[in-house]
Amino acid sequence: MGRLFGTNGVRGVANKELTPELVTRLAASCGHVLGKNIALGRDGRVTSPLFRDAAASGLLSVGCNVHDLGVLPTPALQYAVKHLGLDGGLMVTASHNPPEFNGVKVMARDGVEIARRVEDEIEALHFAGGPKAADWDKVGDVCHREALTLYNDAVVSKVDAKLIGDKKFKVVLDPGNGVGTLVAPTIAQRLGCSVYTVNAELDGRFPGRQSEPRPDNLRDLKELVKATGADIGVAFDGDADRSIFLDERGEVLWGDRSFALVASSYMAKHPGARVATAVSSSNAIIEVVEAAGGSIHWTKVGSVDVSRAMVENGIDFGGEENGGVMYGPHHPTRDGSMTMALILEIMAERAKTLSELVAELPARAQSKDKVRCPNELKQRVLEALRSKVAAPRVDTMDGLKLVFPDESWILVRPSGTEPIFRLYAEADTQPEVDKLVSENKRLIEETVKELGLKP
Ligand code: MG
Repeated sequence: MGRLFGTNGVRGVANKELTPELVTRLAASCGHVLGKNIALGRDGRVTSPLFRDAAASGLLSVGCNVHDLGVLPTPALQYAVKHLGLDGGLMVTASHNPPEFNGVKVMARDGVEIARRVEDEIEALHFAGGPKAADWDKVGDVCHREALTLYNDAVVSKVDAKLIGDKKFKVVLDPGNGVGTLVAPTIAQRLGCSVYTVNAELDGRFPGRQSEPRPDNLRDLKELVKATGADIGVAFDGDADRSIFLDERGEVLWGDRSFALVASSYMAKHPGARVATAVSSSNAIIEVVEAAGGSIHWTKVGSVDVSRAMVENGIDFGGEENGGVMYGPHHPTRDGSMTMALILEIMAERAKTLSELVAELPARAQSKDKVRCPNELKQRVLEALRSKVAAPRVDTMDGLKLVFPDESWILVRPSGTEPIFRLYAEADTQPEVDKLVSENKRLIEETVKELGLKP
């Protein structure tokens, strides 16, 4: 019995790993566990109509009513589940994965991804053959609901639209041919911005760039920011729950920078607040939060873990180093357009350019890497590493995080889906962090070899 749910929902190559039969049974199991009225939405992928219909069949077969929200960003579906008073939601999307992938994200009635224990419950039911089908006269019905305007109104209402509008910002948006194109240009226009776009046609083949925004695939956005003299560039991932920002010079700010910027503004307005984030996040977040008398609530890596920690502990702000910011006053899930609106508000309030604002934040050098390791050896390798490395602070919340006296750190995290360890590291300078990664990578490779040779 394999695990269906990964770090964020169920994913696989369409019609190979993720089949219509699997999605139908998964949706039936979700419906059985979540309740009677379920939202269903999809992204713009080529195979999303296929899996939307498979999911609808599964839900209807167990007597759920399907509230079809059409094509929309994941955060718009999440917001709608809660505000339409539904019992849960299914989003057909593979987020930032390549076009041949698809998947399903599952939301509880609060509009946040279901907790890990509910994933386990749904998986157990799925692998036991799925729930019993309803009698013919008890199957569910389909209705179509509008969610995009509900969502756009909500985002615009959370910021000072007048203040932002007075600045007449020039904004360049790159939705990467994903569903962000259905909301972000409208929201930016309603905030009084002049909007330019690139890769703004919805196209499930992602012809413009890969669906995951990365510094090396944002060249068109960068050029357009410079050519138009824009104040800011914004790139979205495939389902628009994450956004990556470019400053007015066209420089890409990685997600930890934008997260730290929004966090610093949130802390200025809510001194002493608690902020939820994963153990992979930058020390810059700790500095920003603690400087305002606040504290960090650490979680495992994964937006589901951060969002659920916010809900369970009454925390109103959270985020991740990959560009996911969770703004509780709107909704405690990642939201690319809400983050864009918040950053525009910060630029308007502080009357500074984005590069000036970011220059005021603590700066750290980071690096990521991976090391191959058979799944069955992962636990023993982590235990061996712990005894081999002298680090004054060790955190085992998610894999092994070693924190050294100068506050540099490395996180060695077993992938839930692949036979690899993911490495995340941070230090004051790039040469230091590169050294930290290469030394530890070698040590892990040696340990894997030693343990792999033992019977
Ligand atoms: Mg995403």
